[in-house]
Amino acid sequence: ALANLRHDPVLIVDSYLLRALSVAGWAPSCFACASCGKPGPHTSFSISEGGALCDECQSEGGVAVSENTMELMGHLLAGNW
Ligand SMILES: [Zn+2]
Repeated sequence: ALANLRHDPVLIVDSYLLRALSVAGWAPSCFACASCGKPGPHTSFSISEGGALCDECQSEGGVAVSENTMELMGHLLAGNW
């Protein structure tokens, strides 16, 4: 993918890291709430909770993210260019 120059190299690195986490069994939930499974996209993200969090499950450790960011992460994780 890097040699073909079809995508932004930064996105390729992000996709690689997300997919490496997935192979190791640590894939973050990017669409459904990591705690209750409510369909997203959501606007809170917590590594320690396992990914996206809905409004009801949002913890103090979650950070605010845009829905577009969560959708991009999900697509990069899936390799959906
Ligand atoms: Zn939830």
